[in-house]
Amino acid sequence: MGATPAWPPRSAPRLFVTPALEAGEHRVLDGPQAHYLSRVMRIGEGDAVILCDDATGEWAARVLSAGKRDVTVELVERLRPREDVPDLTLCPALLKKPRFDQVLEKATELGVAKIRPVVTRRCVADALNMERARTVVTEAAEQCARTALPEIFEPVSLSQLLRQWPEDAVMWFADEQGADDEAIPPAARAFAERLPPAGILIGPEGGFDDAEREEVRGFLQARPVSLGPRILRAETATIAAMAIWMGAMGDWT
Ligand code: SAM
Repeated sequence: MGATPAWPPRSAPRLFVTPALEAGEHRVLDGPQAHYLSRVMRIGEGDAVILCDDATGEWAARVLSAGKRDVTVELVERLRPREDVPDLTLCPALLKKPRFDQVLEKATELGVAKIRPVVTRRCVADALNMERARTVVTEAAEQCARTALPEIFEPVSLSQLLRQWPEDAVMWFADEQGADDEAIPPAARAFAERLPPAGILIGPEGGFDDAEREEVRGFLQARPVSLGPRILRAETATIAAMAIWMGAMGDWT
């Protein structure tokens, strides 16, 4: 007798929904989510769907009815609670859209808790479409079977970021001048010296200007770190810094 196939199947479509989910409830999904389920994924009555709410966790649901405009599902069981993520805040300077999308997507995959975008003098972009940013993050989380979403904040100036920075958090400042300055430690060593909460500040394509570098250097909780002897693109530096931090102080150990 073969083993009973697992339910829900791993291939079941995954979606983040609001508000929070409850056992046994019937939830109606409409708009783009109904279109995705019924037109793209071709789900029908009795099929399984996995729903997450970034609050209670991940639920298995069964489709009760599937139409062009809406899909009704019944919550069957909770599969996993919302995952805990390390208290890391990524503070990336705004980049041109495709590259900043990459930063949002990789930050979600790598498990940051918050994303606080910064507008600095050399930023090419000076605004962020928040709805689109939340869509990029949500899709990244759905594709990687995450049960938690990073919180995204409206972009602020560097001075505002420093003014609002929580007193108990270190701000690691990725300083590309670190290669020429022994006083700036390698990130892997420096990160391991401070427990979370922590932040990582990464500059834009053109880097920080001298006044900004001085402002950050003068900030009590800022610590400059080097990401090695080569200048990295902003999005590369962001991914590298997050990975090093997750390995040193996050939940990869
Ligand atoms: N100003 C740099 C230049 O034109 O030579 C380019 C800045 S780099 C493209 C963008 C950001 O990535 C920098 O502001 C810094 O935060 C980070 N970064 C890049 N390479 C780095 C390194 N080797 N060490 C530390 N941070 C680095």
